[in-house]
Amino acid sequence: SLFGLPDQSPHERVLLAADPVTGLKAILAVHSTARGPAFGGCRFWSYDNELAALNDALRLSQGMSLKNALANLPFGGGKAVIIKPAGDFDRPALFAAFGRAVQSLDGAYITAEDVGTTTADMLGMTAHTQYVSGIPREGAFGGDPSPKTAYGVFVSIDEGVKRVLGRESLQGVRVALQGLGAVGWHLAEYLHRAGAQLVVADVNADKVARAQAKLGAQAVGIGEILAAEVDVVAPCALGAVLNAQSIPALKAKLIAGAANNQLATAADGDALQARGITYLPDYLVNAGGIISVAREFRNEGEETAVMNEVAQIRGRVAELLDRIKTSGQTPAREADAWARSLLVKPA
Ligand code: NAD
Repeated sequence: SLFGLPDQSPHERVLLAADPVTGLKAILAVHSTARGPAFGGCRFWSYDNELAALNDALRLSQGMSLKNALANLPFGGGKAVIIKPAGDFDRPALFAAFGRAVQSLDGAYITAEDVGTTTADMLGMTAHTQYVSGIPREGAFGGDPSPKTAYGVFVSIDEGVKRVLGRESLQGVRVALQGLGAVGWHLAEYLHRAGAQLVVADVNADKVARAQAKLGAQAVGIGEILAAEVDVVAPCALGAVLNAQSIPALKAKLIAGAANNQLATAADGDALQARGITYLPDYLVNAGGIISVAREFRNEGEETAVMNEVAQIRGRVAELLDRIKTSGQTPAREADAWARSLLVKPA
């Protein structure tokens, strides 16, 4: 059904925005405004077909509802997807048209960076909509949310390593990082500083070489990273990487990473549990970026305050681990129920 994928609650509204002049084809999905305006980034990506783009927008926007609720933000969940034009295109004009589409929703949806979009894209859009965040400002807080996302994932791994693996610190803990992009690189630096041993893979050989040279990382092929001999796997590249093929081969006992929608299906969360692997849900641990752009949007952005708010993700990871002891649920199902119970207007 267009009004809800099998494992989703229905979306409040979905806008298809097309502009023949710039070639814009965008999907703006507002999943829930129960907590406030829907807030979530804009993905710029090549899709096999338009239905795949719609599916991505619907899945990602529902994930934002859960993420924003668990992060205690006064925002609902939304996400936009721009289908990358096949031929040449004028990027500023395309994003201007997208900005006008965002504005047409009159504040029901607020956008920011996601995979494929940059701070420059967001800055350019400010001429067309006031509902955009993640904008670098001279001498003031704002811009790229990725380092904040990385910090939230870092504190989550640290908490998981202590609580699940029973280790005192990250010293000597082996962590496999899939993807050394905007988030993955910052996460690698945090982990390295804390004494973790890194095993890394990226399709970009330069990033891998840099991690070897600067962080003493061990490199493996992109087909081997998830099955590496490590304590922790941190997926920081693509969605749906935890699936029927990858799960049986995992050696790690803890999974926590930045990538959105890591579980291919809800049943894959059960399969991880059956193998004795603890999965810290993506939307719980990767909320640092939305916390950052949300504070920026509300003009409450200040580096220390934002980092302190991101650090609170550690307490929520601890609470989830406590909750599953009582409920006997998998972390994925427990987090889902917890987040859904919060899809109401904050007091
Ligand atoms: P990015 O595009 O900067 O980085 C992705 C990296 O993964 C790139 O270096 C790319 O070369 C690499 N990669 C692609 N395919 C790969 C493969 N098969 N194996 C190994 N590496 C591969 O993106 P990002 O901003 O770092 O985001 C990473 C993930 O985290 C995405 O799923 C994104 O949705 C999610 N996320 C990002 C943020 C944020 O603040 N940027 C916030 C929440 C969630």
